Amino acid sequence: MIRGLRRSHILLTLLLIFPLILGACGGKSPTAAPSKAHEGPLTVVASIGPLGDFARHVGGDRVQVHVLVPPGASPHTYEPTPAQLKLLNRADVLILNGVGLEFWAPKVLDTLDNPHLKVVVASEGLRVLQTSEGERGGNPHLWLDVINATHYVARIRDAFIAVDPAGKEVYLEKSADYIETLKDLDKEILFTVDRFANKKFIAFHPAWVYFARRYGLEQAAVVEHTPGKEPSPAEIAHIVETARRIGAKAIFAEPQFSPKAAQVIAEESGIHVLFLNPLGEPPDYDYVATMRHNLAELKKGMGE
Ligand SMILES: [Zn+2]
Repeated sequence: MIRGLRRSHILLTLLLIFPLILGACGGKSPTAAPSKAHEGPLTVVASIGPLGDFARHVGGDRVQVHVLVPPGASPHTYEPTPAQLKLLNRADVLILNGVGLEFWAPKVLDTLDNPHLKVVVASEGLRVLQTSEGERGGNPHLWLDVINATHYVARIRDAFIAVDPAGKEVYLEKSADYIETLKDLDKEILFTVDRFANKKFIAFHPAWVYFARRYGLEQAAVVEHTPGKEPSPAEIAHIVETARRIGAKAIFAEPQFSPKAAQVIAEESGIHVLFLNPLGEPPDYDYVATMRHNLAELKKGMGE
């Protein structure tokens, strides 16, 4: 028993001394990590383009933003490369959409060696819709409702303030300005969609359910319920029938997927293929410009 006591005493002494030794050796202990944030811009990694654009608007010069999903790829199938895993190992902030969009995240976060990485799930706190059976925990495309996008911006602002308190005033001011811009965009979409002759549309994959709910549209059918899985002949026949029934003038494809199935349906129904982009275009993936493009395409397809 005495031996046991002595051993625990030695252990206790070591536990008390050990951090002092580490501290004296040049700040390699985890407690020294936060000071890194003040040395230069924060290294911010965003899973998809819109999140990267929000981060740039909130962070300005105080952040350097990298986007994981490259142009033309779909987040539903994309996984980070080894080079991107290295980037994550030295990043300060990782911004995820959540709701299963980053299906790779649990595994990747487990293998990272970066205890100071701040992970922010931008959709957390919003109401998630369940729209088809194959979804992991719900439909993840919440950012396409512009009011939801303001929530994303606020979550990103709070994460930046937590990691870099010295930039608090900058983050508060920039996020407030950008949220005003988004609210104007929201009004513009509401006003334009309200005058559409046809409120029903055929989407490529179930990306537009939050957009449709916010702006008073109805997704009558989708070409691919599981993104990347082409529809069967029976499904194509059903979509063609739906297109005729709703008097569709166009079917909406997306640049991240092959438009082949949409083209077949459009030919069968004698309508056009138009493109909606849920992710934006590089290099800056400008969300506001992308949503204006989407609004213009919808207007072409659904008329005034
Ligand atoms: Zn999607």
